[in-house]
Amino acid sequence: MRSMNEKCAVVGIFDHPQASKLAYFSLHAQQHRGQEAAGISTSNGEKLFTIKDRGLVTQVFDNQKLATLKGEMAIGHTRYSTAGDDSILDAQPVFARYDLGEMAIVHNGNLTNAKEVRDALIKKGAIFQTFMDTENLIHLIAKSDQQHLTDRIIDAVKKIEGAYSLVFLSRSKMFAMRDRFGFRPLSLGRLGDGYVVASETCAFDLIGAEYIRDVEPGELLIFEKGKAPQSIKVYEPTPKHCIFEYVYFARPDSNVYNQNVYTMRKAMGKKLAQEQPIEADMVVPVPDGGVPSAIGYAQESGIPFEMAIMRNHYIGRTFIEPTQEMRDLKVKMKLSPIASLIKGKRLIVIDDSIVRGTTSRQIVRMLKAAGALEVHMRISSPPTTDPCFYGVDTPDKDKLIAANMTNAEICAFIEADSLGYLSNDGLLLSVNGKEENYCTACFTGNYIV
Ligand code: AMP
Repeated sequence: MRSMNEKCAVVGIFDHPQASKLAYFSLHAQQHRGQEAAGISTSNGEKLFTIKDRGLVTQVFDNQKLATLKGEMAIGHTRYSTAGDDSILDAQPVFARYDLGEMAIVHNGNLTNAKEVRDALIKKGAIFQTFMDTENLIHLIAKSDQQHLTDRIIDAVKKIEGAYSLVFLSRSKMFAMRDRFGFRPLSLGRLGDGYVVASETCAFDLIGAEYIRDVEPGELLIFEKGKAPQSIKVYEPTPKHCIFEYVYFARPDSNVYNQNVYTMRKAMGKKLAQEQPIEADMVVPVPDGGVPSAIGYAQESGIPFEMAIMRNHYIGRTFIEPTQEMRDLKVKMKLSPIASLIKGKRLIVIDDSIVRGTTSRQIVRMLKAAGALEVHMRISSPPTTDPCFYGVDTPDKDKLIAANMTNAEICAFIEADSLGYLSNDGLLLSVNGKEENYCTACFTGNYIV
């Protein structure tokens, strides 16, 4: 089964007269987590309303649509998916009518036992409409013989495994649940008399919510009007936070797992300068991901920082054929070097990660063509050697360059003069983390579930 909830953002707004608008703004702040589709469900206490479609948040919604999303509770989602998986049916929230009424669910993460659960449900006669593992939850909740929705949700999450940060909406309540490992982020904030949950705190900043705390790994929060959120410890927390949120995923102004992302990335750059020094004339980030770590590298090494590669922010989806020639053009459309700045210079180029190696190779070629004397690639994370099963969209192992080549071979492939990665220990030190509290599977192959 395809995995459909990678790289997503979720949000929940509880008890606010402008719930749908605030959900919209919260999704907009988190657009970087998924650009394929966006959706919002609201409840006015009697009925759920849902709008979802392919496209960016600003393309899917306008004032008129938001006005039809009535009620003081809202949940929302932005979705990323791999090319080709663009069925509108696979946009979220997932909505359903069942014996207790109506519900909608949004999900960030990947369920690792999704296929087994789905096959068992289908054997018993369940009919699925989408490829999303989130739909399993709808069936599990609808089929549970518990009387109350809270108990049914607990019943359902006990049957699923893997990564999930979930927000549920019923007609009168909102629920938020995070898996016991806390793989994907989920924070709780206060908003006037109401509450908000979101994948990233940059959403709180935009709508003026005040951060309270993270939803605990294994915790279910129940929001009911006129009451403080009720907390149920469904599982003992055993944190294994996704370290890739710090490396690439999250926005630098967000606090993820209680630490600021920009600060973490800068620390990675400093550590990288200590571990992988080289003489050069300037430190150049690959924008935008490489910027904070390049600042850290430059400060630590004393080598001047220059924004020698410009990024065009208006790319969106480019409709060009997937030939190699066209792929090269696509990178050129996005990134462009300042030739007069780099001509005859030795560059240290900083990016956050190498996946297939195509981006790095094109950047090195572009910089050399623009006259760079030497290009030394420095990566602010360890070699990506293993695919992610918990929600980050990495390709299969056979396509991960670091799983199949030595450092020297990768360096030759990307046509760089040298290549250096941050070590896994260096990465953990930079984020003040211990190996046991983080999931580093994409760099170490140490899978938890
Ligand atoms: P590649 O060209 O395959 O080596 O991809 C490396 C580039 O993709 C780097 O510039 C990263 O910033 C970026 N990147 C890393 N992980 C992801 C991801 N999960 N989704 C999209 N882009 C990514």
